Amino acid sequence: MCSEVLGVEGSEAELHHVRRYGAKRATSPILPLCPIHHRSNDGLHGLGVKGFERKYSITCEELLERVNQKLGKGNEE
Ligand SMILES: [Zn+2]
Ligand SMILES: [Zn+2]
Repeated sequence: MCSEVLGVEGSEAELHHVRRYGAKRATSPILPLCPIHHRSNDGLHGLGVKGFERKYSITCEELLERVNQKLGKGNEE
């Protein structure tokens, strides 16, 4: 899908706070997305999380993992 998601260059990315289902605390991981995949009609907010996940065949959690791998970070808490 988008290079911004899979290889974050820093400048254009918008930060989306991922809501974890069933999470007890307000720890929301941050997912960098370009404006298109974040806010447009084909983006996370345009389609809704479920629609987005269906359209791109990837969940927000998987996306997060891939971004973290790309950035060379684990989940630091
Ligand atoms: Zn994008
Ligand atoms: Zn967002």
